[in-house]
Amino acid sequence: MNLDLDGKVAMVTGAGRGIGKAIATELACGGGAKVAVLDRDYEHALEVAADIACGAKGFRIDVVDGAAIDACVAEVEKDLGPIEVLVNNAGITRDNLLARLTEEQWDQVLDVNLKAAYLTMKAVTRGMMKRRSGRIINITSVVGMIGNKGQANYAASKAGLIGLTKSVARELASRNIRVNAVAPGFIETDMTARLPAEAREALSAQIALGRLGTPEDVAAVVGFLASDAASYITGQVIVVDGGMVM
Ligand code: NAD
Repeated sequence: MNLDLDGKVAMVTGAGRGIGKAIATELACGGGAKVAVLDRDYEHALEVAADIACGAKGFRIDVVDGAAIDACVAEVEKDLGPIEVLVNNAGITRDNLLARLTEEQWDQVLDVNLKAAYLTMKAVTRGMMKRRSGRIINITSVVGMIGNKGQANYAASKAGLIGLTKSVARELASRNIRVNAVAPGFIETDMTARLPAEAREALSAQIALGRLGTPEDVAAVVGFLASDAASYITGQVIVVDGGMVM
C-alpha cells in the first residue's frame, strides 16, 4: 500500500529492534516518511536508522524521563521538521505472579508502557494542536484486553494504554489529531523469545491462523493507521493476533 507520508516526520519509540524497527522501516520505506528512530539502546537506534536507506535518524532516549522526552522532541523537530506521526512502541515485561510481584517490577512496567505514552503524547501534541494535524498510534497488547497469568503489571499497563488512547482521541479529534491503538497478539521478537517452550506452545495453539505473527504484520497496520486511508478512524484498538482473541 502506498502510505503517502512523503516527507512527513514520524517518531517511533523503542525502534531499535523488533516491532518498532519494522514500524520505522514501513513508515520510511513504505510511506516515504522521515523517521526518528528512538531507543534507549543508542547503538541499535543508529543501526536501524542506517539500515533504512529511505531516510531516518537515530536518537537516544529513555522514555521514562519526561525532561529528556521534551528535549528529544525539540531535537527531532529541529533536525527533521514538525512531527506528524507518533508511535508509542517502547515496552517491557517484568513477569511475576501477583504474590511475588515487587513494587519495582510494577513501577518499571507502568512507567515504560503507560506513563511514557502520556509524556510523549503531551510533548508532541503541543505542535500538532497548533498545526491542527497529527496521527498517534499506541502499541498495546491483547494481554491488556484478556489478562495473562504472571503479567498483572503488563496487562494493567496495556489496558491503561487503551483508556489513555480513547480519552486523548476524544480530546484531540476537534484538532484533526487521530489517536488509535494496535494490539498485537503473539509476535516473534526478542520479547517473546524469552518465553519458556511450554508457554510458547500453549499460546501458539490458541492462534486461529496457526502461526505466530511477524513484526511486519503489526507494522502494516500501524502504517495504515498513520496514512490518510484511515482518516475516519480514531479512538480504536485494532487487534493483530491471527485470530487468537475473538
Ligand atoms: P522488544 O523487547 O523486542 O523491543 C523493545 C524495544 O524497546 C527495544 O529496542 C528496547 O531497547 C526499547 N525500550 C525498552 N525500554 C525503553 C525505554 N525505557 N526507553 C526507550 N526505549 C526502550 O519488544 P517487541 O516485542 O518488539 O515489542 C514492542 C512493543 O509491542 C511493546 O510495547 C510490546 O509490549 C508490544 N507487544 C509485543 C508483543 C509480542 O508478542 N512481541 C505482543 C503484544 C504487544
